[in-house]
Amino acid sequence: MEIRVIQASPDKRKRKPTDESKLGFGKIFSDHFFTMSYHAGRGWHDPLIEPYRPLQLDPTAMCLHYAQEIFEGMKAYRGKGGDIFLFRPLENIRRMNVSAERLCMPQLDEALFMEALKKLILIDKEWIPRGSGTSLYIRPTMIASESALGVHPANEYLFFIIVGPVGAYYPEGFGPTKIFVTEEYCRSVPGGTGYCKAGGNYAASLYAGEIAKKLGYTQVLWLDAIERKYVEEVGTSNMFFVIGDELITAPLTGTILPGVTRDSVIRLAKSWGVKVAERRLSMDEIMSAIASGILKEAFASGTAAIVSPVGQLSYRGKEYPISEGKTGNLTERLYNEILQIQYGQKDDPFGWRIKITD
Ligand SMILES: *Cc1c(COP(=O)(O)O)cnc(C)c1O
Repeated sequence: MEIRVIQASPDKRKRKPTDESKLGFGKIFSDHFFTMSYHAGRGWHDPLIEPYRPLQLDPTAMCLHYAQEIFEGMKAYRGKGGDIFLFRPLENIRRMNVSAERLCMPQLDEALFMEALKKLILIDKEWIPRGSGTSLYIRPTMIASESALGVHPANEYLFFIIVGPVGAYYPEGFGPTKIFVTEEYCRSVPGGTGYCKAGGNYAASLYAGEIAKKLGYTQVLWLDAIERKYVEEVGTSNMFFVIGDELITAPLTGTILPGVTRDSVIRLAKSWGVKVAERRLSMDEIMSAIASGILKEAFASGTAAIVSPVGQLSYRGKEYPISEGKTGNLTERLYNEILQIQYGQKDDPFGWRIKITD
């Protein structure tokens, strides 16, 4: 399928932000977006890059009622010489298809998805910011667009990709966060959709997040839904602990999101000779590791921040500092390494970086 392009007329183009220190996250989007429609029996059709605009949906559009919606989150980075890079984009594309399957939504062709990404980024390349740590955030989304009430998989879908400049996550350097362990609420259950980037998961996580914020914490640390004992994720990031000489993260058993950053952290750490374990880690084990002084570092991983150090845990009404509230050595090394690979400042031994050219 040929991707058609309709350029935004010059007078409709938005003014680009001039102060890259004030970009923030998710507020500014570029001049164009990619759209493609699906109808049962016909498949995907009319791939199009067109001027950014509001969507037109009937009030009965099924995504609005039954949350048949999935998305992805990735970034394009601008290197020093002006080169444009993506970081492991095929992982995001494949993960979106995994989410699609679980939500009874149609599969996307990997090559067409990649072509759409590249084409859109190139058309709006002037929107990729240049400041250190800034990037172009990419949000592929699929919604059930059929107008019909009644719970069943829709017969019509819309896939779109929007892009917009985002600021550096740490404009003033690393700030360790305080996280709140909740035993009352859970994000995901075995057999559920925890491994999918499906909108419904995030709606269901808001309540516990607000409680944590009111108490002065940045994020919720989610435990497993059955025993409320084992660490799963933190907010919308994967979670890592360094206990003794071991880097530990939850295994991929269907209740956590298989982060691209998580996988990159694991592979890098292993390549440095760090012992890495993907295993269940209980709060009891964390508490005794803190008590005996062998819990050295804790951090969250995700596309937004790469890694985000955790400086304090709140569990059962008590506060526990981690690495004296500072950023751990491994945390910082992982951050710098991944950042430099993403921005083309370092060798890319794993072949993670993809350069985008006309
Ligand atoms: C997106 C996401 C992550 C991180 O995934 P990355 O691919 O590393 O960005 C982790 N947990 C949840 C719940 C997420 O939505």
